[in-house]
Amino acid sequence: MPETQPPLAQRLETIRGTLLTLDEPAAIAFFSLENFDVLLKTTISLCPDCLVHVPAIVFTNQKRVWMRKLCEKHGAVTCLMENDEKFYHLSNKDRWGRKFASDKVMVFPAFNGGCCGEGNGCVEENENFADQSANKSCTILVEVTNACNLSCAVCYSDARGDRKMPLAVFKEYISRLIERRKVLDSVQLTGGEAALHPEFWEMVAFLHAQREVKKIYLPTNGIIFANPEIAARCLPFRDKLMVLLQFDGKTVQTSHAMRNANTTQIRDTVIENFSQHGIHMQLTMTITQGVNDHEIGWVVEKGLRHSHIKVVALQPVTYSGRYNLGQNPTERMTLSDCVKAVATQIHQRTSIDDFKPIPCSHPNCGWITLFVQRLGLTANIARHIDLESAMNRVSNRTLLNSTELRSVIGSEPKNLIHQIGAWAGRKLIRSTDVFAIAIKPFMDKFNYDQDRISACCHHLLDTKGNATSFCEYNARLRPLDSWESFPFLKQQAETLAAPTR
Ligand code: SF4
Ligand code: SF4
Repeated sequence: MPETQPPLAQRLETIRGTLLTLDEPAAIAFFSLENFDVLLKTTISLCPDCLVHVPAIVFTNQKRVWMRKLCEKHGAVTCLMENDEKFYHLSNKDRWGRKFASDKVMVFPAFNGGCCGEGNGCVEENENFADQSANKSCTILVEVTNACNLSCAVCYSDARGDRKMPLAVFKEYISRLIERRKVLDSVQLTGGEAALHPEFWEMVAFLHAQREVKKIYLPTNGIIFANPEIAARCLPFRDKLMVLLQFDGKTVQTSHAMRNANTTQIRDTVIENFSQHGIHMQLTMTITQGVNDHEIGWVVEKGLRHSHIKVVALQPVTYSGRYNLGQNPTERMTLSDCVKAVATQIHQRTSIDDFKPIPCSHPNCGWITLFVQRLGLTANIARHIDLESAMNRVSNRTLLNSTELRSVIGSEPKNLIHQIGAWAGRKLIRSTDVFAIAIKPFMDKFNYDQDRISACCHHLLDTKGNATSFCEYNARLRPLDSWESFPFLKQQAETLAAPTR
């Protein structure tokens, strides 16, 4: 007889109840912890074998951060969380266990009228914090097809299907979201390769027509947009559009290792195509330790050389989906490795201290640094901005306009030189001059932390239209979410192509 599980909220509350009773000595005994320096917190994670929620403890050992978790069926397992303890924080929003290291707690305000909108706080106001539906979604990903024209070794979605989300379903899901959330900062049309969808352009046009949708992100491997005529079809949507181009490094070897294909020339053509139309781009670099981490600086430099490239996103791989370049949960790339690679590999003046946690969901979910490129100069401005106080002054975190940007420059009071620089910045800088390096360390079944999941603001719509944490979906839910009810991509294409009377 199949085992029935109690509902998620109940399962989590049961574990939480146990964790709250454990003080430090009891927690050490409960988790049979032997080698550690400092206990940081208890939380809830996943058993990497059966994906059941399990109690976990986070601690430092030899300057690195680790998680040990206990599954009733599969025993204890210890996983790496962060290679440098200085880059790991607790949050005031952590709720699933006990915090043991108060000096590690980073306090993020419940942004009043900021990123969450008026009267719409973060998880703190949400009584049932197993439920993310009240969370703000800074980004909503919609996978409109599970088909792709590549077969990447690092594909977190394991895209190999042949189905498509019908246009009517897509419109219904987006309309429902707008009704509930009022404003959608950004919607990502993704897959698979979203542009393979026969009604892809109708979807883009629909999003563009929604006043409540502020940005449309188009992640792509670039193959389709290397055709200049197809790239030109983005032009009518330019004011809201950003193309997120998969861009893993310089060499053909890297491309082959990560993508099972050589896409290096295709990527350059895509950058050129969108440059001609002034369409903003992000280069998205997926990073595997020992494969392409030495190429991080080259990718950032590539971004800085093109005025229409506004963001380079660095994403250490997660062991999800089709990832098959060797899974080692105790030796892997973490956020601090990305920061250090940027600081040592790029020639522009920037240091480790210029990176800060994005003050939104959780301090371990994303770090950022900002440059301004103006009048032929490139300067890092992260040190002139107090991001936390800025959050209360900007209406949409992902969409600083020129006025908002100028209002936060100089909000970090320093010496006179800084103040003069800030004054100049306020006069001169336009939002289009800003270039960001964003580091997004997504989680998998090994480094999974329910505290981050519950505060998540980076959501993916499942096939039923429910917004779930991107990390939770990939680590736990994707295999349970079937595309069977959606039509075949090919049949639909043939139907559309058939003559009508
Ligand atoms: S990673 Fe992207 S391009 Fe590669 S197979 Fe998956 S969906 Fe396709
Ligand atoms: S998707 Fe993952 S990394 Fe991003 S905000 Fe959500 S929990 Fe954090």
